[in-house]
Amino acid sequence: MSFDCRQCGSCCMFLGDYIVIGRRTGPFSFECESISTGTPFTAEVDEDKRGIFSDYSFPEDHPHACRFLRPDGDLLRCTIHRDSPAQCKFYRCVVMRVRSSAGDLIGTVRGTLDLHSDDPGLRCVWEEILRKRPKNDTEAEPWILAFLREKGYLVE
Ligand code: SF4
Ligand code: SF4
Repeated sequence: MSFDCRQCGSCCMFLGDYIVIGRRTGPFSFECESISTGTPFTAEVDEDKRGIFSDYSFPEDHPHACRFLRPDGDLLRCTIHRDSPAQCKFYRCVVMRVRSSAGDLIGTVRGTLDLHSDDPGLRCVWEEILRKRPKNDTEAEPWILAFLREKGYLVE
């Protein structure tokens, strides 16, 4: 299932304590650590993002944001896209948007395969999904999609 990141940056806005710069090793290169996994990594700012990276007003105004996040027009962009840690590369905030048969958005399924919804009917169906879904997330994702569609939901 394809995931289209809109580069809104909201998932990076509070990761300043988790993606940490240990040492600057060059004008655009850093030794870093991903605190949640305890993984060190080296990062070089992408060549095409060095201009936006060099403006420090955004990190100064947003002390909890990841140090590598910068505004670029209407977007908030990761400036180390090439070297960002694996959990950033594989992160998907929303993998399914669930709509009623009338087309109203009633829930979203996160990349961790959790449902976010206030709709009682959908929450009830989700309970059934939790009981029956394959344990393995890779197999579960298409299974959940098919199950929701079978129940009459529009899923994208
Ligand atoms: S993963 Fe989601 S929250 Fe993060 S930048 Fe992309 S669209 Fe925004
Ligand atoms: S390294 Fe990039 S993708 Fe990861 S939190 Fe920072 S700005 Fe976001």
